Amino acid sequence: MANDWKPRTKLVHTGSRRSQYGEMAEAIFLTQGFVYDTAEEAEARFEGIEGDAFIYARYGNPTTRMFEERIAAIEGTEDAFATASGMAAVNGALMAICKAGDRIVAARALFGSCLYILESILGRYGVEIVLVDGTDLDAWRAAVTPGTRAVFFESISNPTLEVIDIRAVAEIAHAAGALVIVDNVFATPMFSNVVELGADVVIYSTTKHIDGQGRALGGVICGTQDFVRGTLEPYMKHTGGSMSPFNAWIMLNGMATLDLRCRAMAETAWTIAGALRGDARLARVIHPFLDDHPQQGIAKAQMSAGGTMIAFELAAGKEAAFRFLNALEIVKLSNNLGDAKSIATHPATTTHQRLPQDQKDMLGISPGLIRLSVGLEDADDLVADIRRALDAI
Ligand SMILES: *Cc1c(COP(=O)(O)O)cnc(C)c1O
Repeated sequence: MANDWKPRTKLVHTGSRRSQYGEMAEAIFLTQGFVYDTAEEAEARFEGIEGDAFIYARYGNPTTRMFEERIAAIEGTEDAFATASGMAAVNGALMAICKAGDRIVAARALFGSCLYILESILGRYGVEIVLVDGTDLDAWRAAVTPGTRAVFFESISNPTLEVIDIRAVAEIAHAAGALVIVDNVFATPMFSNVVELGADVVIYSTTKHIDGQGRALGGVICGTQDFVRGTLEPYMKHTGGSMSPFNAWIMLNGMATLDLRCRAMAETAWTIAGALRGDARLARVIHPFLDDHPQQGIAKAQMSAGGTMIAFELAAGKEAAFRFLNALEIVKLSNNLGDAKSIATHPATTTHQRLPQDQKDMLGISPGLIRLSVGLEDADDLVADIRRALDAI
């Protein structure tokens, strides 16, 4: 029955487990360990034959398990493992599957820390990393040689919102025997089902839309039971990247309103993109559903809404961008995204500051580029705030 529920019902109820008190709200099991009635019971739990039972919070915890079951139900995967942060999830998924000599092919337009894991960490251990332009299917075809261990990409890239054709890349990867690992943060769990499109493993930084209120770090890795419990869990439980039960409780509560928040934010993002379009002070406005977005067709085919993020480029460059940012009143300057509060970021000098200039040029991270994470404020107020700040440049 619970399997037939629609997403909004699952977001509120799936995974809930109640103690003998029958509490309404999900309980926070702030406990590192669990007490066994007998030595035999302890032995059985360590042998893994006790079923739905716990040993140590690094391995699993009832509150964390509720969150894992809820997100797996939304993603349509058999299982999920919750991690301390989005980066613990990316690191765990990649480290758990790789050995020296393996080849990973990834899209070049990645979150900076993801690039660090690939090039500086996995590279150091003898994993061959090939970076491609994620929107160029011929580049994927050329790079994904038979025996490639995995392909990795963000379904929508940060900060320039390039959209990757998940179905096409998954076909290329699967033909070579490679696992398809997708970081789906920008598309959110609500707007695209990447498993249906061919992804094997889906990763979220739950710090973003799933918390949605800027309170806690978290991450999650969704996949088959075989992958999550057989391949991933041994790596995660022994290396200590598990999510804290308190943060899992925050994420569980975030899930209940996830669909409502994402849809409201996406609607406002679309309104703002429309309002900014054609403004002479902007060299470009980027939103995946706009006509002039190079992957508009793919975006519309694989997403039910265009997302909660937009980007735009001030024609007058960095000084104008800073004057714009400093004049904003409602929109906050920060680097989180998916928050109830709208957030503007200047990628070239913050999140992507350390990228070499040629990489910035290649990824379109120009001095005038602003990334905007659209929040839950009134759309008219946000448009007015942005227009006023544009006038201030
Ligand atoms: C934020 C983010 C991460 C990292 O998540 P943390 O929770 O900050 O560790 C990874 N990938 C993408 C696309 C992100 O936006």
